[in-house]
Amino acid sequence: MNVPSDHRPSRQIAERAPFQLSFEFFPPKTDVMEERFWESVRKLAPLHPRFVSVTYGAGGSTRDRTLRMVSQVKTDTGVDAAAHLTCVGATREEVDAVVRGYQTAGIRRIVALRGDSPAGVGMPFVQHPGGYTSAADLVAGIRRIGDFDISVAAYPEKHPQSPTWEFEIDNLKRKIDAGATRAITQMFFDNDDYFRLLERAAAAGITAPIVPGIQPIHSFKQISGFAAKCGASIPAWLAARFDGLDEDPETHALVASAVAAEQVLELVDEGITEFHFLTLNRSNLVLALARLLGVRPD
Ligand code: FAD
Repeated sequence: MNVPSDHRPSRQIAERAPFQLSFEFFPPKTDVMEERFWESVRKLAPLHPRFVSVTYGAGGSTRDRTLRMVSQVKTDTGVDAAAHLTCVGATREEVDAVVRGYQTAGIRRIVALRGDSPAGVGMPFVQHPGGYTSAADLVAGIRRIGDFDISVAAYPEKHPQSPTWEFEIDNLKRKIDAGATRAITQMFFDNDDYFRLLERAAAAGITAPIVPGIQPIHSFKQISGFAAKCGASIPAWLAARFDGLDEDPETHALVASAVAAEQVLELVDEGITEFHFLTLNRSNLVLALARLLGVRPD
C-alpha cells in the first residue's frame, strides 16, 4: 500500500470533517426496561448526536410510548429527538393526528416508514382502508402538515418485497422526491452492499445522504434473528466469528466490539461521515465506537 497507514481518514482526527451521529432506541415496555433506556440515553446524550430516534411498534402499538419517550428525551437531555412513524393499521386522518401530536410536542424530526403487515414481516403489506399506501405517500402527507426533517428507509440488500433493483431505487427516489431529507439504511454487515447502494442511488440522481444503519452485535443469536426477519444477511465469515460463543459472554463482547469497529472504520476510510447506531437501548458498544471516531462525551 502506498498510503502511509496514519494517513487513513479513520486515523486522522484534526483534519477530518466532524462526524454526524444519531442513535436509535425502542420505547421500553416495563419499568426495568425504562430504567435501562434512560441510563443509555443519559450516557449517549453527551456525545451530542444530531438526534436520538425512537421506533414505532408494529401496527402503531407503541404510539403513546413513542411520543412520550421522544418528548421526554428532548426536554430532559436537550438532544433533538426523532419519532418513527408507520402507516400500518390506521387511516390517513389517524396518522395525521399523530403527526400533529408530534408537532404540538415540539418534535420536528420524523422517520417515515410504511411498516409491515400485522401478519408478519415477510407477509404482503395491505393498505389500511383509507390509510397511506407507502412510505413515499406518508412523506408527502407529513410535508402537507408541516416543515419536518424527514428520514426514510433504504436497503443495502434490497427490500425483500422489491422485485428488482430498479424498482427499489425508484421507490427510494420517490421517497426523497416527496420531501425526505435523508435515508437511513437497514442493518447490513457487508460494507460492499452499502457502497453498491450508494452507487446505484447516485446513478439514479439521488443526492440526499444515505446514512448507514450500524447494528452492534450485543447478542449474535438475537441479531441473527432480527436480520432473518428483515431480510438482512449474515455472511458466513461473521457467523464463524461468533460460532461457539453463546456461553462465553466476555469473548462474545470482545468479538462484537472488534466486528463493529472494523465495519465502522472501513466506512470512515471510504469517506463516510454520518452514522446511525441501532442501540437496542444499550450504550456500551456505541460509546466505544464513538470513541474510535474521536467523538467523546463532554
Ligand atoms: P416503502 O419504502 O413504502 O416500501 C418498501 C417496499 O415495498 C419497496 O421497496 C417496494 O418493494 C414495496 N413497495 C412500495 N411501494 C409499492 C407500490 N406502490 N407497489 C408495490 N410495492 C411497493 N418498522 C416499524 O414498524 N417501526 C419502526 O420504527 C421502523 N423503523 C425502521 C427504521 C429504519 C432505518 C429501517 C430501515 C426500517 C424500519 N422499520 C420500522 C421497518 C420498515 O417498516 C420495513 O422495512 C417495511 O417493510 C418497509 O418500510 P419502508 O418505509 O421501507 O416502505
